[in-house]
Amino acid sequence: MTHCNDGSIDGPAPIVVVGGGMVGCVAAMYLARRFGRVEVLERDTAVKRAEGHTARSLTVILSARGWRVLDDLGLAERVRALCLPLGGRLAHRPDGSQQYTAYGRHGQRIWSVRRDRLHRLLVSATAATSGVRMHHGIRVQAVDLDGPSVTVDENGRMRRIPCARVIGCDGVHSVVRSALVAAGARQTVRQLSLGYKEIDVSDAEEWRHPRTAFHYWPRGQALFGAFPDIEGGYNGSLFLPLSDGPDNFAGLTSPAVPMLFAERFSDLTARIAGLEEQFRDRPTSAITTTGCDRWHHSDTTVLLGDACHAMAPFMGHGMNCGFEDARVLDECLAAAGDWASALKAYERRRRPDVEAIVRISHDHYRTLSRGPHRADRTEAVLDRLSRLLPEPRFDPLYERCAFSHDSYATVLSDARAARHLADSLLAAHGPRLLEGPDETFRAAARALTAVQPHPLQSVPDGGIHARGALPNPLD
Ligand SMILES: Cc1cc2nc3c(=O)[nH]c(=O)nc-3n(C[C@H](O)[C@H](O)[C@H](O)COP(=O)(O)OP(=O)(O)OC[C@H]3O[C@@H](n4cnc5c(N)ncnc54)[C@H](O)[C@@H]3O)c2cc1C
Repeated sequence: MTHCNDGSIDGPAPIVVVGGGMVGCVAAMYLARRFGRVEVLERDTAVKRAEGHTARSLTVILSARGWRVLDDLGLAERVRALCLPLGGRLAHRPDGSQQYTAYGRHGQRIWSVRRDRLHRLLVSATAATSGVRMHHGIRVQAVDLDGPSVTVDENGRMRRIPCARVIGCDGVHSVVRSALVAAGARQTVRQLSLGYKEIDVSDAEEWRHPRTAFHYWPRGQALFGAFPDIEGGYNGSLFLPLSDGPDNFAGLTSPAVPMLFAERFSDLTARIAGLEEQFRDRPTSAITTTGCDRWHHSDTTVLLGDACHAMAPFMGHGMNCGFEDARVLDECLAAAGDWASALKAYERRRRPDVEAIVRISHDHYRTLSRGPHRADRTEAVLDRLSRLLPEPRFDPLYERCAFSHDSYATVLSDARAARHLADSLLAAHGPRLLEGPDETFRAAARALTAVQPHPLQSVPDGGIHARGALPNPLD
């Protein structure tokens, strides 16, 4: 076992955080501020290096929800020094044209950061937090929810550590979640039909917005995305079905790769050095999503982050949402007089929001894979509603997820209601509504919202995407 700071766990531990990933670090810092001693148990012996291209994206995106937490913990300035700001996404079409979509209407930006650097900073800030002790090289093998205690494997030696609370931040294959399942909870663990492989891109200065946008090449079931890296290159990922369809990872041998790129991503091929080698040497990663119908046990145990809600990565919210879990848990602990009520309140408050962002993230694949669509009338009405009506409920969905702290559940139900309103406006007035003056449009929208003052209640639980769109291949 190696420690980032001194001391091993002797005697009962007040609070054990299982998993020293990004969410575990953030949770430990919040808990230590409130309760003092916290022990973080991490199975890896050191922070993973990104150079090895492990089964995780090199780059992660921070949005307002993540920044709020980093601000709370006094880390925002240090993290910002590692980040690149991105103002929008640039679609590269098959005909070579490029179309930019701003992330927000007011020039807001999301922030791209290398995962390993962010993680390393969080680990060192956690280890430096008064009361926290980080232990690397300890794998939790089992959790006794009622004891409570954790059984750990420390260099092949099994040991039971009694504790007062177990905070499960141990990711997709959570041992803490397994303990809840053994006690009767039901989990879902799903592998998406789509996988990805990371492929670096260099030399792209002739693109529009080369270093201030996320670049993507929507090609039906094949999708390539690239984030500019603070070191000067671009971290790209090829998304393809793992085994189904005409092009898939299982059937794609490395000699066939240049042909696929020449056919689908012709403008990109010349920008990738050693394409075949990169394809051969980098792992193909599957994407696993998780859910669980119970996130806590009595006053002893609770799940946060991917342990209870690993989601599709297309919105870039998994980590941001996990950070928000930790902040909400802290608020619930502050408001409740005891752990049992706090854990109950946390799950009650958080579950609808998590279910919403899981849905939104899943559906966002379709937004990326079909690219910007100029001719969609419903989208045009939604765009005009957001520009002409001041209420936040008409603000674009992506913008509210990335740049507000509004509940994800409210954001999703508002988006569904706005789409319903847009369809109703088109049904009542026809496409000429889009050509009329702002005043006429505003009056028509106001007239309909007056008839349906609470459209949320009457809206079917439909999608947030245009009718007639392709079915989501992830389904
Ligand atoms: C391709 C891809 C791109 C993504 N992009 C973004 C993005 O742009 N923005 C965003 O917000 N999110 C993004 N995500 C999601 C994000 O990576 C996760 O939501 C986030 O890493 C979850 O953090 P976590 O700490 O909950 O889990 P993890 O990162 O999985 O950490 C869990 C930790 O627990 C440890 N552990 C596990 N089991 C044990 C055990 N038994 N004993 C001790 N330790 C244990 C692990 O070693 C690990 O360190 C992306 C995900 C993918 C796959």
